[in-house]
Amino acid sequence: MAKTRPGVPSKIKTGRKELDSYTIKGTNKLVRAGDCVLMRPSDAGKPPYVARVEKIEADARNNVKVHCRWYYRPEESLGGRRQFHGAKELFLSDHFDVQSAHTIEGKCIVHTFKNYTRLENVGAEDYYCRFEYKAATGAFTPDRVAVYCKCEMPYNPDDLMVQCEGCKDWYHPACVGMTIEEAKKLDHFVCAECSSDDDVKKSQNGFAASPADDVKVRVSLFCKCMCKMFYYFTLITLASAAPCLCRERYTIFVVLGPVWT
Ligand SMILES: [Zn+2]
Ligand SMILES: [Zn+2]
Repeated sequence: MAKTRPGVPSKIKTGRKELDSYTIKGTNKLVRAGDCVLMRPSDAGKPPYVARVEKIEADARNNVKVHCRWYYRPEESLGGRRQFHGAKELFLSDHFDVQSAHTIEGKCIVHTFKNYTRLENVGAEDYYCRFEYKAATGAFTPDRVAVYCKCEMPYNPDDLMVQCEGCKDWYHPACVGMTIEEAKKLDHFVCAECSSDDDVKKSQNGFAASPADDVKVRVSLFCKCMCKMFYYFTLITLASAAPCLCRERYTIFVVLGPVWT
């Protein structure tokens, strides 16, 4: 029997067999290919790693290995954690790995962004993913994201936003001079710009439940220039181009339709 190092797939096919499922040690939870799992980090002080299981295999000695694809947390990405990243945000990376099944601590659910924003209660096991991430280059797919409010930021589902009845844009209470408590008590909100306009057109379709439901959006691109590390978001409107930290300039556009599905 040839010896193989842990984590390195054996070249000898004999004795390895694919498994339909694996039961997490000390639990009755079954893990199957396609499931998302929490894996014990090497540093005990860190949060668990999140991965999507691609394949489960056992070798001749019944050591179970999982082939997995890592999710990255924003702080593990080249651009780092940004203000608009939610606490439960993950990026699906192009980083594949083989790990011992013993490192699996539990299961979790990685929702689409839209489904996550519709959850009534967010449990410890709930995460979401709106971007794929290339670990080597730090690039995101999609390379654009909708932005809201005067601050031109993408939606962070952890933050309360209020929708203007006039322009339908969403605002952070702090950005329009309100406290979160004041915003929660509001029945109607009209932004300063729309208040000065007498002819506020009211929505015929009512209100979207959250910015994730918006159809018409302003979008921002990830910077692709020399400053790559920053992945600075720039405002994209039909009227003007916003300089990045690196002073690169961008083409500007408005996208009709959701930028994520
Ligand atoms: Zn804002
Ligand atoms: Zn408005």
